[in-house]
Amino acid sequence: ERACRRYPAQAIVDLAALRDNMRHLVEIVNADPAKPHRTEVMGVVKADAYGHGLVPAALAALAGGATWLGTAQAHEALELRRAGIGPERARILTWVNDPYEVPYDELLRQHIDVSVGTPDAVEQLAKAAEAVQRFVRGADPIVAHVHVKVDTGFGRNGFTLNQLDLIAPRLKQLQDAGLFEITGQWSHLAVADAPDVPEFVHETDEQVARFEEFTRHMQEAGIEPRIRHLANTAATLSRPEIHYDLVRPGVALYGYEPDPAMGTPQDYGLTPAMTLQAQLSSVKHVPQGTGLSYGRVYVTDAPTSVAIVPVGYADGIHRSASGFDRCGSRHEDRKGGPVAFMTRDGVQVRHVSGRVCMDQFIVDLHGDAKELGIDIGDTVQLFGPGRGEAYGEPTADDWAKAADTISYEIFTCLRNRVPRLYR
Ligand code: PLP
Repeated sequence: ERACRRYPAQAIVDLAALRDNMRHLVEIVNADPAKPHRTEVMGVVKADAYGHGLVPAALAALAGGATWLGTAQAHEALELRRAGIGPERARILTWVNDPYEVPYDELLRQHIDVSVGTPDAVEQLAKAAEAVQRFVRGADPIVAHVHVKVDTGFGRNGFTLNQLDLIAPRLKQLQDAGLFEITGQWSHLAVADAPDVPEFVHETDEQVARFEEFTRHMQEAGIEPRIRHLANTAATLSRPEIHYDLVRPGVALYGYEPDPAMGTPQDYGLTPAMTLQAQLSSVKHVPQGTGLSYGRVYVTDAPTSVAIVPVGYADGIHRSASGFDRCGSRHEDRKGGPVAFMTRDGVQVRHVSGRVCMDQFIVDLHGDAKELGIDIGDTVQLFGPGRGEAYGEPTADDWAKAADTISYEIFTCLRNRVPRLYR
């Protein structure tokens, strides 16, 4: 921890919170005793576990009862196996978003399930499966565990219904040849994070109906995927009827609901796992009318102290979280990103004042630093596991609001210059 303190900011990841969030998710998807089968939970750990650290987060998710891990890119899945997370410990599915030189043979050797959503991917995987079976002989031949991705309305990855009808005989052939096991049928939801908006609920219903249609077409072609999965965090939390055999929550594992319009993390029994803190590099007094930072768009309205927080957009702090638009006009409904200071009178929240710079930003303390009890070197908190700015406990959702984005982007954008500490 001392070594990391040499950096002016730290992201502290609470692994127990990650584990407990997963435990909670496993419980809620299996809460109905009348349900005929258990729903398994995949910890989505792509993008360095949304910035929390791939391997520590994956281990915490497994400790909380996840039986699957999911990654977007092949190398992320391989890294999990290299870290010692073997097939007996977790099934891993990679979406294989990588376009070129996918190491399919390595994925197969490492018993990693693979998604296919284009005819090209099917052929590349088939070739790799054939080669691996030829060269790796054992009692159990290596079979490609394939999850057929279908596009039910996201417009991104996966076969359309027409494409599926064309490729299905080939999938069946590869299955009959013992090269493929069609393990899964899956798709991704586009608007499940607005469960209170009727037209979006309707669109999700339509995606579900299409998902079922894809299943019928697969069955007609003689393909029976062992499992089906569709639900992201939003559907995991709000649509039990579409949990199917497996759910794929990402952001909930890290302690957030997908959209603050759905409520707070605490409403869903979740605890934000990451705390971002920094040590003040300077505190000084300035007169009324002082313009702060680039463009001097922020001008102090009274004599005041300002504090310098030594993280900026090179660390992943969004420049848009300044409270001003591109032309320097103040946003009516968006303050700068919140920062919690420990003052003599307890925790008080102040905001980014003026433009976020590459390595630092300035905060108007709206008072005298000495009287407030704020000094150089003090630790301040940008976001953490609390209930939100209104409670003096800023969260990544508050920063997302300030930067006009979503919490996902707040933590995934944090750069390596901010060390991750684990507790
Ligand atoms: N499934 C897929 C295919 C995804 O790409 C993602 C993330 O974007 C998830 C599940 C998890 O989404 P969320 O973090 O909203 O739960």
